Amino acid sequence: MLSLTQLKDDLVTANRVLAHHHVVDSFGHVSVRNPENPKHFFLSRARAPNCVEAGDITEFTFDGQIVGHNPGKPYSERFIHGSIYEARPDVMAVVHNHSPNVVPFTVQTKKKMRPIMHMCAPIGTDIPTWDIAHKFGTTNLLVTSMEMGRDLAQSLGNRTVALMRGHGSVVVAKSLREVVFTSIYMEINADMLIKAYALGDGDIQPMSEGEVDANAGGRAGFTLERGWENWCKITERPYYSLDWNMGPGFSKTDK
Ligand code: MN
Repeated sequence: MLSLTQLKDDLVTANRVLAHHHVVDSFGHVSVRNPENPKHFFLSRARAPNCVEAGDITEFTFDGQIVGHNPGKPYSERFIHGSIYEARPDVMAVVHNHSPNVVPFTVQTKKKMRPIMHMCAPIGTDIPTWDIAHKFGTTNLLVTSMEMGRDLAQSLGNRTVALMRGHGSVVVAKSLREVVFTSIYMEINADMLIKAYALGDGDIQPMSEGEVDANAGGRAGFTLERGWENWCKITERPYYSLDWNMGPGFSKTDK
């Protein structure tokens, strides 16, 4: 287990890594549930992810109220995170992004987002598209209330990903490392999928449900650690190892 200080440090790292991979740009955000108080979560103040520092990390209640340390204006879309943590006790981390290759699939009704390469299996075969207009009519498309957040969380259901029409997506996972991994590989999958669709007449062969299930166990432990260690190095952030079986050369700063 990481200490709370290390977890918040990892949240800074997650912001930098997602920015490096263009999952987020000046906008989009990543949060982690407080393991010591599951009704609270940590999220940066409203700042570009690549600029986020430890002092920006803020603790929130599900309904977006700041707890304690208040470093400045919160994200107006923080309700996305609180609503999902409220609905999904199994979720420990959430990413909201405008991932550029994913957005085309939020407005596409025929050529669906599907995993086409094994590293992208975590996005799953059943990916819904939430349309804010269905319940809230004409808006600026931003999720700025718990009512909107809860509607989005309902559309997500027990899945890993929900697309948001004309906006972006939400990605959830059981850990911060996993949510970063899935978000990066969803962007890579979307880029490859657009190319696959462009190559032919629109027919593609995505991963089957069985193949996705067969990959589910493969992204625990070692796979996530291997990605996370590399991404820490790329972004020049400290790496806190969570795995005892990584082999020589891996630091074990956490037991
Ligand atoms: Mn947004």
